[in-house]
Order: sequence, then structure tokens, then C-alpha cells
Amino acid sequence: MRILRVLAPNPGIRELEGTNTWIVGDGPSIAIDPGPDDAGHLREVAREAGHLAAILLTHDHPDHAPGAAALAVATGAPVYAARPPEGAKRLTDGQRIVVGDVVLTAIATPGHTLDHIAYFDERHRSLFTGDSVLGRGTSVIDPPEGDLTSYLRSLRRMRELSPSVIYPGHGPVVLDAPGKLEEYVQHRAAREEQVLAALASGVRTPEEIVPAIYGDHPADLHPLAARSVLAHLLKLENEGRAERRTTAGAVRWTLLEPRTCVRCGRPVKGRGLLCGPCSLAVLQESG
Ligand SMILES: [Zn+2]
Ligand SMILES: [Zn+2]
Repeated sequence: MRILRVLAPNPGIRELEGTNTWIVGDGPSIAIDPGPDDAGHLREVAREAGHLAAILLTHDHPDHAPGAAALAVATGAPVYAARPPEGAKRLTDGQRIVVGDVVLTAIATPGHTLDHIAYFDERHRSLFTGDSVLGRGTSVIDPPEGDLTSYLRSLRRMRELSPSVIYPGHGPVVLDAPGKLEEYVQHRAAREEQVLAALASGVRTPEEIVPAIYGDHPADLHPLAARSVLAHLLKLENEGRAERRTTAGAVRWTLLEPRTCVRCGRPVKGRGLLCGPCSLAVLQESG
């Protein structure tokens, strides 16, 4: 089956060489992520697509979605997305898009954004990952839109699909999909250890943590890295392993010692004495 990339002319720190618009199928075809609303790019997408029967969006970021409206007008193809722009159709997890002999299943993969969808061709085990997995480097998890806890869950979900090849939203095709997904999971686990170590050493803000663990990265990437560190801190806070205190407008993060429930010994989130089930039980006993 034909899978063709048309590269959008929008290179950048997050976009790498630009957005990959993927055309799938040789009869009627599907276009994934038309990219920015760039007339020259969309003309090339329409020409390469031939009979375009569906336009799919992985998420509604400006480097992926805005071209959909003009491409839909030019080709008459319907647009599908989890967070549909005006006139588009709403996609839900598990829904199948069938066009000629192309069958793609929508896989909800929140994390980079809440609305993120990957598309899986089960027959050829091809996975179109948008911004959840890139061909090079790591995906941007920028809170509050980005959420690391759901992102890690999405990585595991994609791994369970056993894809063979990844067609990412940016960067080159990944020929070892399981290896890349494993690398992504390991990378975040290693970063978490580094963030924990930085907090333990007395460093208190994302901006202070970045030079400690991204020292080998160019300085123009540091603001983006600080967003990623914040994503880790929020995950740790959610798990009751770190907390933030605001003094005089400055947010400072510290480690929380792991606590156990005084009643049952299970781990407790935050500063409570009892775990969730025990607080409920005590409440019921006293009531
Ligand atoms: Zn994005
Ligand atoms: Zn992107």
C-alpha cells in the first residue's frame, strides 16, 4: 500500500524539518495532518493524493490542523478529528475509517494534547503517531495542555498494539517501532530519576533543574526543557512524591518523603495519615 510523505514548509524547534503530511492508499486515499494553511503545500498534497476521500487530524495544533479546511474545500473530502473544527466530523477512540482498501483505527493517545489521536493500520502494523512519537528527539509535553501521566499511559497503549513501523508527525520514518516506543518509555523514566535527584540535591524550580540535567543541550532548547521538567514535577505531585509552595509569588518544589497509611501500611498520597480506602472506612465506622 502506498504511504507517501509531503513535507510542509514549517521547520522549527518543535517541528524539526516541518510537519509530515501522510498520504495513505493508491485508489481513494487518506491524508493525515494537512499541516499549516499553506497554499503551495496543500496543492502538492491534493495532487499527490489523487482521489482524496478523507482528511484525518491527529490533534488541533497550528502545525497540523489549519490546512484541513482549505484542503477539504479543494477536494470535497470530509475532515475527521477528536476535537473537530467547524464542519468536521467527531472521531472517537476505536472508530475505523475505511477508504478503498485502507482501514485505519483511531487510537486515543492523550498526553501531548488531550485530543491526540494516533491512527493504526492493523493489517500492515503501521502506526501514524502525530506528535506523540517523533522520528527524532522526544515529544513535547507542555502543561497544562500536555500531561505526562496520560502520555506514559498512551505510550504503553501504543506499545501493546505491536506496530512495526511508525510514521511520525515530524522527523524520519521509524523502522523499529517497538524499539522506539521502549526508548521513549525508558527516556521518561530516566528523566524522572534525574528530576528526583535534582530535587534531592536542593534545586527548587524547573529553570534551576534544567541546567543540571540538560547541560548538554543547546541553550535555546532550555525554555522547552523547563516545560518538560514541569510536566515531571506535576506528575510527581499527582503521585504524592513532590509538592510546591508559593512564597512571594515564586513557586518552589520539594520532595515529599514517601508516607504509609497508619492503619494499613499502604502508600499515602500527599500529607494525609490514612490512604483513600482507609479514610473511607474510618468515615463509615464513625458514621
Ligand atoms: Zn502538537
Ligand atoms: Zn507537531
